[in-house]
Amino acid sequence: MSDIYALGIDIGGTNFRMGVVGGNGQIYSFTRTPSSVFQQGDARDILLREIKVYLKQSGFEGRIKAMGIGLPAVVSKDKKTVLSSPNLKAFDGVSFTPDFESELGFDVYADRDVNFLLHNDIAKLGLSGEKTVLGFYIGTGFGNAISFGGRLYGGCNGAAGELGHIPIMDSRDECTCGNIGCIETRCSGKALEIIAAEHFAATDIKKIFERHANSPVIRKFIADLAVPIATEINILDPDCCVIGGGVADMSCFPKGLLSDSVRELVRRPYPEQSLNIIFTKHDQQSGVFGAGDYALNEYLSQIGNNKIN
Ligand SMILES: [Zn+2]
Repeated sequence: MSDIYALGIDIGGTNFRMGVVGGNGQIYSFTRTPSSVFQQGDARDILLREIKVYLKQSGFEGRIKAMGIGLPAVVSKDKKTVLSSPNLKAFDGVSFTPDFESELGFDVYADRDVNFLLHNDIAKLGLSGEKTVLGFYIGTGFGNAISFGGRLYGGCNGAAGELGHIPIMDSRDECTCGNIGCIETRCSGKALEIIAAEHFAATDIKKIFERHANSPVIRKFIADLAVPIATEINILDPDCCVIGGGVADMSCFPKGLLSDSVRELVRRPYPEQSLNIIFTKHDQQSGVFGAGDYALNEYLSQIGNNKIN
């Protein structure tokens, strides 16, 4: 299987990353460019052009079997159409089928970026055998992904796992999704930025946990983060929970306090007694690997093979 390749693409608000993922688990020809390139015209046409140039230059033209593309967006259940993309407006409503796929000559699987991060984490942490794995990714927003029995769960429309957008009672805060009172308005990097500006204006936000982890306002922020996490744990009674994202990756992030706060809120005796929380760390290539490896697995299952790394 080592000579089978898929293309992995990860488009964020700031950067656009591409890489070829091999059946051996390696990433080849990783590139990172500013996402502003998509504002220069039709994002779909620009992406198609970028992929074609990339495949030619990297020597993988004609050798790719499938492609995964992760975006900070809600994507249709068939993984072909971007339904809602408030943080990457250029791709709002973009469909990757049918012309896009026929131009490239391989299948395209689009999904929320956090779904591919969870796919990455399950593969890298060796969790493939776990029955229910939940991913909580605290970045600019509050990302969430759910995997049942090795399959990412998309729900009826592909919109499952929008845990950041559960409403909080009595909150009137406006969320980027257009709704009022979403928990993401308090449990996210955006919320941390507001706290930093209001309470610790003299501290570089990168050092906010280093300097102020024990302050009441930061302890409250961490306790608030535990609320959506414990909520989903109480609903799904998972085998394992993975926590990551830009905020959780920050220096001196109080992981122990977050784990303890989650533990306090979950139902006893179970799932509390079997609670298994793993903190994960991502790098620039994590989203690319998740997207490419997912596409590779889909290709292999379609041709009736099991992947052997
Ligand atoms: Zn919302």
